[in-house]
Amino acid sequence: MAQVAISNVAKAFGTVKVLHDVSVDIADGQFVVLVGPSGCGKSTLLRMVAGLETVSGGTIAIGDRVVNHLPPAKRDIAMVFQNYALYPHKTVEQNMAFALKLRKTDPAVVAERVKRAADILDLNPYLKRYPRQLSGGQRQRVAMGRAIVRNPQVFLFDEPLSNLDAKLRVQMRTEIKELHQRLKTTTIYVTHDQIEAMTMADKIVVMRDGRIEQVGAPLELFDRPANLFVAGFIGSPS
Ligand code: ADP
Ligand code: MG
Repeated sequence: MAQVAISNVAKAFGTVKVLHDVSVDIADGQFVVLVGPSGCGKSTLLRMVAGLETVSGGTIAIGDRVVNHLPPAKRDIAMVFQNYALYPHKTVEQNMAFALKLRKTDPAVVAERVKRAADILDLNPYLKRYPRQLSGGQRQRVAMGRAIVRNPQVFLFDEPLSNLDAKLRVQMRTEIKELHQRLKTTTIYVTHDQIEAMTMADKIVVMRDGRIEQVGAPLELFDRPANLFVAGFIGSPS
């Protein structure tokens, strides 16, 4: 596990500034949710932690290392995307094992990690199936399995539930929280859904237009919103 320190981070695409002086501290084992309207910069910030975007200013540290110039593979993170990004021609088992095989992990270790992930996520009956043979919720579990097998220091989730129907979304929220309680892996979770943020987060970071409006525990934001934007955003139904 590791803490993540995002310090005075800025991002520009060409001349367009999309993040301004963003600082967030995420404690070891904490579940932090970045929430805000579409286009406010959540994915960009998460992708910078992952190493998928360069940082225009400031620093990002994972554990005791500044990672600004480290490629994604060296950052000890695993990311789960909204569109799952599963390999269609690989089975569930192969999808989960692939990242480890690329890293030339000992086959016995690969088998053991895949088994553990399948147990945790109830995927044992589906190991030989292909993604097209799975439901949306099962595909999401495989995407999480791929992250778990890597034993990362940090999980990064980018709107992982937005392709699921409302009922499944509620169920998967619970599953992701249970997973976190079990593994205690430091997690940064991006969503535009206030309810998801309120029910899942240890700490919420409310963003608007590339800036942080408020950081706090769910009830803190609810009871003492810093401004009308936070009050309106947290208070309104999704
Ligand atoms: P969110 O995830 O909160 O919806 P994003 O981080 O995807 O927001 O986007 C923040 C802003 O940055 C948006 O205005 C978006 O259009 C812009 N943006 C994101 N990626 C790029 C890119 N590769 N090139 C140019 N602009 C981008
Ligand atoms: Mg996004």
